[in-house]
Amino acid sequence: MDVQPDRYHRQQLLPEVGEAGQRRLGELRALIVGCGALGCAQADLLARAGGGHVRIVDRDVVERTNLQRQTLYSEADIGHAKAHAAAARLGAVNSSITIEPEAADFSPENAEGLAAGCDVILDGTDNFETRFLLNDLSVKLGIPYAYGGVIAGRGMAATFVPGEGEHSTPCLRCVLPEPPPAGSVPTCDTAGVFGPAVAIVAAQQAADAIKVLLGRLDLLSGTMLDFDLLHNTRRRLKLDDLAGDRSACRCCGQRRFDFLDGAMASLAQPLCGRDAVQVTPAVSAGVAFDELSERLAAHGPTRRVGPLLKAEASEGDRQYALTVFPDGRAIIAGTEDPAEARSVYAKLIGA
Ligand SMILES: [Zn+2]
Repeated sequence: MDVQPDRYHRQQLLPEVGEAGQRRLGELRALIVGCGALGCAQADLLARAGGGHVRIVDRDVVERTNLQRQTLYSEADIGHAKAHAAAARLGAVNSSITIEPEAADFSPENAEGLAAGCDVILDGTDNFETRFLLNDLSVKLGIPYAYGGVIAGRGMAATFVPGEGEHSTPCLRCVLPEPPPAGSVPTCDTAGVFGPAVAIVAAQQAADAIKVLLGRLDLLSGTMLDFDLLHNTRRRLKLDDLAGDRSACRCCGQRRFDFLDGAMASLAQPLCGRDAVQVTPAVSAGVAFDELSERLAAHGPTRRVGPLLKAEASEGDRQYALTVFPDGRAIIAGTEDPAEARSVYAKLIGA
């Protein structure tokens, strides 16, 4: 328990929380995967609420372009691992909780270990492959999963509750059977992101995570929030209406965990002696080069060379040269590190 009993007074006044609820929050564990804009806001809300154990996994380092919307970082953190910079900041906000930073690439190999002992999963990722991996984990281990995403002013959030209980819902794969093909959707790094939209999605995810930790699944909405803050639209769609036949779902219906098993994993292979990594996406239906070229042009020169698209881009003080093949494969020169190459792929090509 907190050594400062008045810290949570205003929250304990809520009948949905109370003293018993506050104690539960302190005892249970949240897993935040990805500590960019969404993850920062989720972690801050959970830490201030007295979420007693928060495990944060992120593979990236802080860059200057992050500071516009990633609220746990300051200029002094540039170049430092996000998970550790976030933990230092959260420890200063609330010294009575335990923050477990993991500077790791969340992958099929380490996913179950990182989720062990967690009571709720929060999505702070920037790519669909990791989201489907989180959905597999959620269903296999029976842990509720707060999904969220933001591109430009548009945000989506939904909390999936696995299992057969009274408050269970369809899973992400019931709603979206396969991830979008590589290169088919814009990313924050190519389409931009409107900071206030992040705050709404992260608040919805954190609110749902707190409800889960309180044991109040009855307070979850069973809906997908879908809004565009730049164009003033907002709607809520019932997950039951969005989902197909649950018994036909490969994940929650047939209990096949394609992403966790690695059958649907992208491959990142260092190319010997070339300071380059080849990334092969898990799902590809071919890349729309004109659209991709337009998106990448904001980062540096792009050109078509025969069937290939070549582009240059910088992230922080790192320079990369991308060669994209029509089938979605890409060679990313400028790194030998598979995790870094996967990160660059997710940010610039996407899916
Ligand atoms: Zn399902």
